[in-house]
Amino acid sequence: MAHLYVDVDDVLTDSAGTYLSIVAREFGKTASLADMVTFDLQQSFGLSANEYSRLVEIAHRPEEILGMAPCPGALETLERWKQAGHRIHIVTGRPTHTLETSQQWLMDHAVDYDSFTIVDKYQRPNMDPSIAMPLSELQKMSFSLAVEDSASMATYLSEEMATPVALLDRPWNQALTGNGYITRYRNWQHLETSFAAQLLP
Ligand SMILES: [Mg+2]
Repeated sequence: MAHLYVDVDDVLTDSAGTYLSIVAREFGKTASLADMVTFDLQQSFGLSANEYSRLVEIAHRPEEILGMAPCPGALETLERWKQAGHRIHIVTGRPTHTLETSQQWLMDHAVDYDSFTIVDKYQRPNMDPSIAMPLSELQKMSFSLAVEDSASMATYLSEEMATPVALLDRPWNQALTGNGYITRYRNWQHLETSFAAQLLP
């Protein structure tokens, strides 16, 4: 039985697609996924500080979160991993006010998981310390594998926790060259196929 850490934004949910549609709708800026070459969306989209604050506020509204599409293949793989007896631990860095909405999305999409944790991954504002787990607490936990898209979290998990990381290939994590713990995957199908043997119960 494996304990699997699974991130949410751009691992389970196509959050980039939602950000792109908000940027077009609210700021009239046409951008594509390929433009998102940094994890800093203000920089990727060329937004002012005020525009960026507004983008983040809108993107975390319930209607935006609930409308996010699943990443292709993600939910099917999680279901097969769960049926194989593995434990699914959802670990997100979203603002704490999205707790209920984020869990609602998982319910709407019938995701069967064992735990849901908001971790203060990026030391961003809007994190209620009574809800968010600090990285120092996460560090005490143990996972068989972590599925992430964030280069900084992939680095933390691998270097501070010696956790194997499946890094989903995204424009914003290309600069990460990685180490022995980080393996880059094109998509969920590629990841599931590669881990089929290692994740036998
Ligand atoms: Mg993410």
